[in-house]
Amino acid sequence: MIPDIELNNGVRIPQLGFGTYKLPPERTRDLVLTAFDAGYRHVDTAQMYRNEREVGQAVAASGLPRGDVFVTTKLNNAFHAHDDALAAFERSLDALALEFVDLFLIHWPLPAVGLYPQAWAALEEIYASGRARAIGVSNFQPSHLTRVLETGTVTPAVNQIEVHPYLRQDEVRAFDAAHGIVTQAWSPLGRGTVLADPVIAQVAARHGVTPAQAVLRWHLQRGDVVFPKSATPARIRENADAFGFALDADDVAAIDALDRGERTGSHPDQENRTGR
Ligand code: NAD
Repeated sequence: MIPDIELNNGVRIPQLGFGTYKLPPERTRDLVLTAFDAGYRHVDTAQMYRNEREVGQAVAASGLPRGDVFVTTKLNNAFHAHDDALAAFERSLDALALEFVDLFLIHWPLPAVGLYPQAWAALEEIYASGRARAIGVSNFQPSHLTRVLETGTVTPAVNQIEVHPYLRQDEVRAFDAAHGIVTQAWSPLGRGTVLADPVIAQVAARHGVTPAQAVLRWHLQRGDVVFPKSATPARIRENADAFGFALDADDVAAIDALDRGERTGSHPDQENRTGR
């Protein structure tokens, strides 16, 4: 059973979900259905992933009540201007064939473009209309969040950032926590890079679990929300099974010590791509 976490507006989100970045669109529907069969009830997609339509098809085909599934999508970098953001959101609802999403995020802050405060204003309007049950941001540094807190009226419910044992992100996570913002850890497995680490292998062996399960357990015990991605059904099931054991303080300290500030993706201050 996957536990929920309460967001700052009372909406509950399953702490573990299914990531869909780089899932081929032609396989996405079946893989999301595999995830639902394995017990996942939370799917993370984005306009940029070009698979919202197939995610929506899986939600429809699952037969699950809409209220039992948590769907997140994200604003494409090309659409930070206020009216563009509103129109892009409409296209997401249309592609997903949903009347509302559970969470809508600004995908990247694009500080060099400088339009994220107006994108946030558009998200606040969408939230007020009830078509997103919660709104938040992704890849926001404390400086970007501070600006949103100053210029906006709604505190973001989440900040989705890259976090894994090689990139602990304690500073951003502490800022999020101090403002009632839940941290979502993207690339929780470091896109697979952390799984061959001997320290992870030792912790996993001690608990009779796989390296992926040990790493996901570490995230869950820190209180972050995770959505590992896999296109392999056995791994999709494996990644959902990170709840029947607990890491002790020594395990946590050993994994914490692996931090080396290593990113698999862009630094938020340097990501400026605005293509579609
Ligand atoms: P991830 O850390 O989930 O790693 C996925 C890779 O790890 C897989 O492709 C596979 O190679 C490997 N893997 C997965 N499960 C495994 C297992 N059990 N055993 C062995 N290897 C395994 O990486 P990700 O997909 O980049 O991140 C997860 C999700 O986070 C994405 O799908 C997406 O939804 C989200 N994300 C968001 C942003 C953002 O900017 N907001 C950026 C990247 C990812």
